[in-house]
Amino acid sequence: MRRNPLFYLAPVSLALAACSNLPSDPIAYADEIHARCLTLDTHKDISSQLAPEQLPKDPDTAKTYRERYDPTVRGNQQVDFVKMREGEYDCAFFIVYTSQRKLTAAGYHGAYTEAKKKFTAIHRMCRLYPEHIALATTAADVERLHNEGKLIACIGIENGYPMGLDLKRIEEFHEKGARYMGIAHNGHTQLGDSHTPTKPMHNGLSELGVKAVAEMNRVGIMVDVSHASKNTMMHALKVSLAPVIASHSGARALNDHSRNLDDDQLRAIADNNGVVQCVALASFLKSNPEHRVAIGALRKDLGIARGTTGDLSSDELQKRFAKFATARKEVDAKYPGANVSTYVDHIEHIIKVAGIDHVGIGSDFDGGGGIAGWRDASESRNVTRELVRRGHSEAAIQKIWSGNLLRVWREVEAVAAASK
Ligand SMILES: [Zn+2]
Repeated sequence: MRRNPLFYLAPVSLALAACSNLPSDPIAYADEIHARCLTLDTHKDISSQLAPEQLPKDPDTAKTYRERYDPTVRGNQQVDFVKMREGEYDCAFFIVYTSQRKLTAAGYHGAYTEAKKKFTAIHRMCRLYPEHIALATTAADVERLHNEGKLIACIGIENGYPMGLDLKRIEEFHEKGARYMGIAHNGHTQLGDSHTPTKPMHNGLSELGVKAVAEMNRVGIMVDVSHASKNTMMHALKVSLAPVIASHSGARALNDHSRNLDDDQLRAIADNNGVVQCVALASFLKSNPEHRVAIGALRKDLGIARGTTGDLSSDELQKRFAKFATARKEVDAKYPGANVSTYVDHIEHIIKVAGIDHVGIGSDFDGGGGIAGWRDASESRNVTRELVRRGHSEAAIQKIWSGNLLRVWREVEAVAAASK
């Protein structure tokens, strides 16, 4: 029997119909996907003065305070409630970062005191503004609060240094809401080696570090291997009973920076069923030597050491930091660095090596993060737009924005529950 010639055309016309279903406006299409995503960022630094209960009497000082610390004001921070809503940036791990001092009792005590202030600041923010934001302490909390339309705060500890030599502090930090903790920041700790300096101190985790990982597994705190040396990171993967995270790191194959993870490390995290949350800090994503020299000169001029964050102790230092921030913008404009496209290159490299189930997002906002096109929470849509532009599916984008991290968190919860 001869078929009607139109029969053969049917698949073609079906294909044409499918084509006509393609978004006529890809940006609007990407924005719809972004709106449906639960967007979660694993690294947002804070000042211990976040969400002040009282403002200074002097109106000018009060205004400065509000711009700097009040999360309800669209102020100087890269993440505040207004910018979160603008960018549909739903959930962030607010970071308990403490500057590292010597590995002495006095040093640990200082850092522990500083850490407590940051926990208090995050709790204060949630207590003062319950109509805006709430603290999530489980992966289920994150999803429930998102369905309720709330912004979501989680807590991560950048560096295990403030626990000192006392393993009981880990349970205490868990009770205060911490759900991940790093081994080190910049500089070796009592728990293990950092990515810097390159000369090791422990050649991996210390004996205490191994016990700390076991204790984090027991209480249900995700182990964070960002900032750790390669040896330390591999050691942590070997001893941890639960998957680990790298809360803010990039791909070393694309930019040879010690804060990034090489392909062996990416594969190891995939084998561990963990997740690499891609960092959005320009100098980690793309080497830019002219920029580095100019910033170095600026730091020297103004006496602003590397690693200085927005949490500054004296007015005089704050003024110098403000000058630095302004001058830095000029340097950024003169020597453009990483942008959203560079960022998605790193995400795609992690996908290529580790797989789509092992990548996520950790901006490092208010701690040095921010790139052209994703300068603050309000511009978060641009990340989704670039992923859509490059053909990633909605399901893949959901995994990247939060699905993978929440899966790891649940596994960590399950390991802790099993140990009870
Ligand atoms: Zn960091």
